[in-house]
Amino acid sequence: MKSTSIILTLVFLTISLSAKDKPNIIILLADDLGWSDLGFQGSADIRSPHIDSLASNGIQFTDGHVSASVCSPSRAGLMTGRYQQRFGHEANSPPESAGMDLEQVTLADALKKLGYRTGLVGKWHLGNQDVYYPNQRGFDYFYGLRSGSRSYFYNPKKEDKAGNAKGIEENGKPVKFNGYLTDVFGQKAIDFIHEEDDRPFFLFHSFTAPHGPMHATEEDKALFVSIKNTKRRSYAAMIWAMDRAIGKLVNSLKASGEFENTLIWFLSDNGGATGNASINLPLAGHKGIKFEGGTRVPFFAHWPKQFKEPKKFDPMVISLDIMATSLAAAGAKVNDLKGLDGMNLIPFIQEEKSTPPHKNLYWHKLWFSAMREGPWKLIYVQDYGYALYNLEEDLGESTNLIQSEKKRSEQMIAQLNDWKDGLEKPRWDEAEVWFRTHSKTHIRIIEGE
Ligand code: CA
Repeated sequence: MKSTSIILTLVFLTISLSAKDKPNIIILLADDLGWSDLGFQGSADIRSPHIDSLASNGIQFTDGHVSASVCSPSRAGLMTGRYQQRFGHEANSPPESAGMDLEQVTLADALKKLGYRTGLVGKWHLGNQDVYYPNQRGFDYFYGLRSGSRSYFYNPKKEDKAGNAKGIEENGKPVKFNGYLTDVFGQKAIDFIHEEDDRPFFLFHSFTAPHGPMHATEEDKALFVSIKNTKRRSYAAMIWAMDRAIGKLVNSLKASGEFENTLIWFLSDNGGATGNASINLPLAGHKGIKFEGGTRVPFFAHWPKQFKEPKKFDPMVISLDIMATSLAAAGAKVNDLKGLDGMNLIPFIQEEKSTPPHKNLYWHKLWFSAMREGPWKLIYVQDYGYALYNLEEDLGESTNLIQSEKKRSEQMIAQLNDWKDGLEKPRWDEAEVWFRTHSKTHIRIIEGE
């Protein structure tokens, strides 16, 4: 009897210790944040002290990308670790009846299986119907909006009207909130991580900031009176509020002794938009297009227990790597990672592997595609053709080398088309006006006008 109870105790201890060793995992996702619009990215007018502190103590991915230059497909890639075009999630904003393929395993699904409790605070944008609801996609807890882009204040006449997918809900029920939405999300995130529960947690903190509408509090705007452009002033204040929420979250992790063994990711879901006064320079382009300004985002990982030496990590990485890396950190076996396009970055960061994590990266949405091969970047625009850049010498994508690098271009075009052949047909479309608008922008930049 006695030996049995000792054995049971030991087994229990082993399980609880291993659960304790598992890192908490947090994804901090900004929405439409510009490449150069944080302190650590060199901004002259935006201040983000808490984000900067995490970045400077973490692993900064200087060539870090998302898998799409607009919200919904980028989030589908992030949540599944797979190129979202493989399951038809190519165009933005699913129509009312559609959402992210129900066959896909989300990061939340996978972490739940590994013993995590899971929460999403903020924007979902992967389907409005109940069947696509975060609570059905692996999240134990959800506080936020099904869709995207809404007022930063409670608005019962518009977004918070019954049945609106932009309304704020908590686990399926519409809720009222007081104050500024970014602050409210910040508090809900803190409440979630401090729930009484011995399991490690996964928090997807999906800010709506600094996506429009350009709502900021008067107090926050007053901190940026030196910015004369009033839209840019609001934008700076929105980022300041996001930074404040992140600072509070970090402080509460420190207070509970969980900061050391929490893996925190920070990135934007796509590049800065044309409408929110963001700055992507020195990158070309912006949200919605295939130049670096669309997909290269501020991106870092912070995990004091494992990533002891802060550094800049220059080989290219992609948001799809977050799932593979997080699952590996949570103790998943290599076999569990099959079917993912992302890579486990841990051995690369810890210099156990000296090759770059990716030889190639790919992007494709409806009428436009792109591909990286090391420093080489190929762009395709439907009804126009291809352009080629060498980002090592020309980060701003100003010199099209398609004619002078004929052999390389041909090889890359063939490889990009091979990759596209393996994709599923898009499950929904976008309005033709986006083709015309974005086609013009691509051609204007390629032709240097
Ligand atoms: Ca976005």
